[in-house]
Amino acid sequence: MSDSGKNILVVGGGVIGLSIAYSLSKSGHHVRVMERDPSLTDSCSSGNAGMIVPSHFIPLAAPGVISQGLKWMLNPKSPFFLRPRLDPALARWIWLFMRHSNQQHVQNSAELLRDLSLLSRRLHLELAEQENFPLVDKGLLMLCQSQKGLDEEAEVAESAHRLGLEAEVINLTRLYELEPNAKINAKGGVWFPQDCHLDPSDFIQALRRGIKKAGGEFIDAEAENLDDSTIVTKTGEKHTADTIVLAGGIATLNLARDLGLKLPMQGGKGYSLTLPKPLRNPELCSLLKEGRVAVTPMGDQLRVAGTMEICGKDTSISKPRLQGIIESFCSFYPEFRPADFDNLTPWVGLRPCSPDGLPYLGKAPGHEKIIIATGHAMMGLSLAPVTGHLVTQLVNNKSTSLDLSALDPARFG
Ligand SMILES: Cc1cc2nc3c(=O)[nH]c(=O)nc-3n(C[C@H](O)[C@H](O)[C@H](O)COP(=O)(O)OP(=O)(O)OC[C@H]3O[C@@H](n4cnc5c(N)ncnc54)[C@H](O)[C@@H]3O)c2cc1C
Repeated sequence: MSDSGKNILVVGGGVIGLSIAYSLSKSGHHVRVMERDPSLTDSCSSGNAGMIVPSHFIPLAAPGVISQGLKWMLNPKSPFFLRPRLDPALARWIWLFMRHSNQQHVQNSAELLRDLSLLSRRLHLELAEQENFPLVDKGLLMLCQSQKGLDEEAEVAESAHRLGLEAEVINLTRLYELEPNAKINAKGGVWFPQDCHLDPSDFIQALRRGIKKAGGEFIDAEAENLDDSTIVTKTGEKHTADTIVLAGGIATLNLARDLGLKLPMQGGKGYSLTLPKPLRNPELCSLLKEGRVAVTPMGDQLRVAGTMEICGKDTSISKPRLQGIIESFCSFYPEFRPADFDNLTPWVGLRPCSPDGLPYLGKAPGHEKIIIATGHAMMGLSLAPVTGHLVTQLVNNKSTSLDLSALDPARFG
């Protein structure tokens, strides 16, 4: 069979699976996307903060994260929690996370994350133009209320410059030049002009339209097990393919097990709340340093998101942590009141988190025809187009635009 026109089955219709299917369809392959929940209610993709973030070149596993995390564990409203439980997979994940939380790992990963993000940003812009949906290319504000926060972020800006990325440390005057639309209670911050934002629903709809236009198909079914060329669904149907791509987010764990692969991955639970008609809407998206909260204007709506709870597959909602997000947002944006959030239904999503903060992207060990694409943690939306691009190069047996060895799904054995 030639490299184009292959028959490909993608398991998972979240932002990663859809971006892969979109890129493969455009490359001339016949693609089917298998999704067990077409409403994406249980996915991590629909309610996220919609940020495209070249500024995120520091992986989740970094120095200081563990000590900060331990302090936060004591506060029920804090943005981080790890639910202790007797689970060998969790113990292994924590051990690997601790091993990678060092400066050397940050240095080793920064250039790769930069290159992945910049290519993905370019592909996001092209896609928004081709598929005609709104993407705001005005940057991201990292807002700080404390001097300590400001000093830390100024250091990040320095590192960004060393990597050739744009970052500007800003005082309040500059802040209001950039963001004339909202009152902000902060000492200052950093503006990352290359970051962008969008509404993930627009992105998802555009990808689906593009896949259908290119002749792709959608199968509403749950993949239960697989071998090298066949997926068997929960209802017993068999679907064969030349290549199978596993992009099921946190649930990829279950299918990877069929391949004898123990992917270390934990669900990183986060919440978002969307104000349907805020009185005022900021122009730029922002991250609130001290509360680790993400704020994103989406058309007339405003989304506020946060928390990282390492919690297995538990999707229950912690009211104190939700309250922590709201209080933090209102303290930075004083025109808003906690009561504005009364009666809103919170959204919850499980980020697929690897222990080194890097995605899993590559062929499954010993299974040439199976590709794994998951583990994007906090950057799945941002890195979705580049993931699609790289998977397409793998399927087409082309050399990849970037060296993928650090993303090898078998890197932890
Ligand atoms: C609060 C919050 C805010 C975030 N903000 C951002 C942000 O601003 N920018 C950013 O880049 N990232 C952000 N993220 C992270 C981002 O949302 C995730 O990285 C991304 O959605 C992961 O996408 P995915 O397609 O891998 O997984 P998912 O979205 O979980 O999709 C996987 C899909 O696979 C399906 N599936 C699984 N197993 C099977 C099976 N066996 N058969 C059939 N279907 C199956 C599932 O039903 C699901 O729909 C945020 C996350 C959270 C929680």
